[in-house]
Amino acid sequence: MSYELVIIGGGPAGLSAGIYASRLGLKTIILEKGVAGGLISEAPLVENYPGFPAVNGMKLAEKLREHAIKNVEIAEFEPVRKIERNKDFKVYTDNKCITCKAVILATGTRKRKLGVPGEKELKGKGVSYCAVCDGPFFKGCRVAVVGGGNSAALEALYLAEIGCKVVLIHRRKQLRAEKILQDRLKEKGVKLLVPAVITEIIGRNSVEAVKINKLDLNVEEKVDVEAVFIAIGEDPNSELASEIGVKTDSRGYVIVDRTQRTNIERFYAAGDVTGGFRQVVTACAEGAIAAFSAYEDIKQPYWRSTT
Ligand code: NAP
Repeated sequence: MSYELVIIGGGPAGLSAGIYASRLGLKTIILEKGVAGGLISEAPLVENYPGFPAVNGMKLAEKLREHAIKNVEIAEFEPVRKIERNKDFKVYTDNKCITCKAVILATGTRKRKLGVPGEKELKGKGVSYCAVCDGPFFKGCRVAVVGGGNSAALEALYLAEIGCKVVLIHRRKQLRAEKILQDRLKEKGVKLLVPAVITEIIGRNSVEAVKINKLDLNVEEKVDVEAVFIAIGEDPNSELASEIGVKTDSRGYVIVDRTQRTNIERFYAAGDVTGGFRQVVTACAEGAIAAFSAYEDIKQPYWRSTT
């Protein structure tokens, strides 16, 4: 199987890259490990994507997917296992080996784990990493959200909105979430438990409580909750790139220049896997730029000619 361009990852960056690359005439395939749309599908609310003043993350992901499918071939449930690099690239999934001239890595990030006792054991039994997916099971219940960034604030707001009694636990006195979100947390009556860390999630068959340490007093306390939503950030899915010598920073984000090129010729990266601002709007833009760079490097259009 041979393509000019393989895009790994079907989130906003990958889908946008696919739309642009196909329209530029590159024979392109997007390989996506699940259903195309990306992690944004788990966002309760997106209010900063131009043209959509307030849109549910799932809806936005569906729209991006629908648009891309009209333009570019997408193989879903096709996780990439390995990339080989010689003159061209070989991209391996469980069922396919695809030869291509260029690769755009748009594999995004994965949600960070808290790493406390009870987290693994009670995952799916009250421990969740997605309020939109699991929140509705806990309407009217007392729930904890962990984290101090935009994700934690948005999850807490969503849960409060659907009728959960929410306590937000963060390890610092100050949240780093945008001010507008912090103001809304107050309005919605979300209780802040700061600075505090969860040291254990307690429960036999489902979550019953969390054990916390109140950091300013160094006091241990048990807080009764029926669910814990963990929103403490993300780590990049950049291993496939590192394995072939693509440079990453100290946190594992792929290093790219302004044209989304990496240190490896005809290997580009776009979206959250490159770190930075990590917004849908920048992911889409980076995908478009990566596609254009791939087009230039593969087709060598007249403006690239030195003569
Ligand atoms: P984030 O901004 O990296 O925040 C992670 C939070 O979790 C921080 O407050 C951090 O604490 C805390 N944390 C990290 N590890 C922890 C641990 N082991 N135990 C306890 N707490 C821990 O992550 P995010 O909120 O998922 O956001 C990721 C990116 O997406 C950001 O760039 C964000 O702006 C963007 N985003 C944007 C929107 C929006 O624009 N509406 C929505 C969601 C996400 P410290 O503060 O102590 O570091």
